[in-house]
Amino acid sequence: MRSALAALAALALVSCASTIDPGPVSELPGAVALGDATWLVPGGFEPGRSPDGNSVILRGTAGAVLVDTGRHASHSESVDRALGALDLPLAAIVNTHWHLDHVSGNLPLKAAHPDARVYGTSAIDGALTGFLATSAAVSRKALAAGRIPAAALPDVEGDLETIARGPELQPDIVIDTPHDIVFAGRALSVRIARHAATERDLWIYDAAARRAIVGDLVTLPVPFLDTACPEGWLEALGDVARSGAKQIVPGHGPVMDRHGFARWHVAFRDFIACARGTGTLESCSAGWVSGAAEWIGQDGARATAMADHYGELIRSKKLDGYCRA
Ligand SMILES: [Zn+2]
Repeated sequence: MRSALAALAALALVSCASTIDPGPVSELPGAVALGDATWLVPGGFEPGRSPDGNSVILRGTAGAVLVDTGRHASHSESVDRALGALDLPLAAIVNTHWHLDHVSGNLPLKAAHPDARVYGTSAIDGALTGFLATSAAVSRKALAAGRIPAAALPDVEGDLETIARGPELQPDIVIDTPHDIVFAGRALSVRIARHAATERDLWIYDAAARRAIVGDLVTLPVPFLDTACPEGWLEALGDVARSGAKQIVPGHGPVMDRHGFARWHVAFRDFIACARGTGTLESCSAGWVSGAAEWIGQDGARATAMADHYGELIRSKKLDGYCRA
């Protein structure tokens, strides 16, 4: 499987930025048209539930490319409806990282589109034996003790089923280093951040559209730091800022222009610096909620509670293990 990459790279290197064929379809049901034959299927984060990450559909001349597949069946069904309106085969699923809110939908979507090839990093190996195994053990214990609220039961059980099928998530084509690749006629630059939001985060720069699809390098209502190296994440954000992108598609939350992204970046940097410092964690959370207020809106109470949790994770140095090579 992994030896396929060399052959793929040799075939698919892109020598220069290409133009994008707009195609016959501009609107897809349940999706937000971003222009340049690109659509966002927004994720969600209902109170008391687990989130779905955003999915992005790109049209190539010979097929569709899907970035991330969400967690819940409702999300992957929305993606599939949008894909259906494109009337092109699903050629590629690209996973930005191995959190379940971005990859659980791989299973139903691959079943519906057996010719689609899955692209992702080898960090699946560490995910399966590391945080996914740990999460399953914690969930099983909490289930046995009756400590899962009724509203959260379907999510917990669904995640356990996905983790049990974890080996099926393995990518068909592993990408661990930056590559320019033509997916079904669509030229994209795949970038890799090491030790950022996860052990390896894949993000995409679409040079022809000047758009960066960054997965969980940008999240709302807070930075989801569960498996993150904060300093590595900051470095990756610097790479995104230098990419030339005019538009940034986050893993969670609305699309940003480069000025919005710069403001999010500052709020993130300040939150990490505060949590690494000696002031109160409450002041760090307040700083985050103020810096990201334009996106958080009415969600301030939840954002504050989550920022408190992640601030504590940073200050306790529990995340530092994710920074080791
Ligand atoms: Zn996510």
